[in-house]
Amino acid sequence: MRTEFDASKEYSELLRTSQWLNKRKQILKRDNYRCCNCGSSYGLEVHHRQYHIKKRTNGYHKPWEYSDNNLVTLCARCHQVGHNNYKIPVFTV
Ligand SMILES: [Zn+2]
Ligand SMILES: [Zn+2]
Repeated sequence: MRTEFDASKEYSELLRTSQWLNKRKQILKRDNYRCCNCGSSYGLEVHHRQYHIKKRTNGYHKPWEYSDNNLVTLCARCHQVGHNNYKIPVFTV
């Protein structure tokens, strides 16, 4: 099992696709454009609570392939702190 999420260049490119931007917009709207941790509306980002690897292809899910309850709105600051303090669990699905 892989425990480190590989923030590859490829992945950061996926975050610029319209599929992700649309998904991101949905999550921001659901969370009323507020950070779920501190309530700030500044510098919002959408965080994945967990990462999934497809058993069949051994590849990561595309960022927009996650169900909404695996995604949460955080401000840039809380997002950074969260990533520094917690390892994102990786599941094979
Ligand atoms: Zn925050
Ligand atoms: Zn994150």
